Amino acid sequence: MRPTIRECGGCTRCCEGWLYSTIQTYPMYPGRKCHFMKTGGCSIYETRPEDPCKQYVCAWRTEAAIPEWMKPSESNVIFTWKYSEEVQQAYLDVVECGEKMSVEVLSWIIHFHLRHNVNVCYRIDRGTNYIGTIKFMKWMEKYASLKLFPFWNEETVPENSPTQPEVTNQGEQT
Ligand code: SF4
Ligand code: SF4
Repeated sequence: MRPTIRECGGCTRCCEGWLYSTIQTYPMYPGRKCHFMKTGGCSIYETRPEDPCKQYVCAWRTEAAIPEWMKPSESNVIFTWKYSEEVQQAYLDVVECGEKMSVEVLSWIIHFHLRHNVNVCYRIDRGTNYIGTIKFMKWMEKYASLKLFPFWNEETVPENSPTQPEVTNQGEQT
């Protein structure tokens, strides 16, 4: 795990059901927040499980290049560093938190990719978009054509969960 440089400070976005996970057998997915999330925050904070609760740290908390204003509770997007074993490349995964991504956030993502040569996968309105190296792009395209993205934990997605996202567009880095 990368060392943290920021604290959550009142943000609870990763518990609110924008990410896919399972917490003590209870699934969490878009449209369903964590079973233990109550008014005021986590109802089992002292005994919350190691995985995912203590282990999950969003990239805003670890990445100095991600600005303060991008805090999930303010920007309404969650950044997560992920890694593709298949192509052996890291990428930044960005999901919206219930609101359509703002132009400012989208613009920042594109600049971040261009300045730091970082692979990025970002979801807008349930559409999956990606920019990065040719290798990364081909990897994403493969799963896009199958409508099966490897970063989705299929085991935690119940039958009545939202459908798989459509790929709406993609950019390509030369
Ligand atoms: S999204 Fe990031 S800042 Fe917000 S609660 Fe989760 S880890 Fe903390
Ligand atoms: S158990 Fe608590 S810390 Fe873990 S996801 Fe649920 S609300 Fe968040």
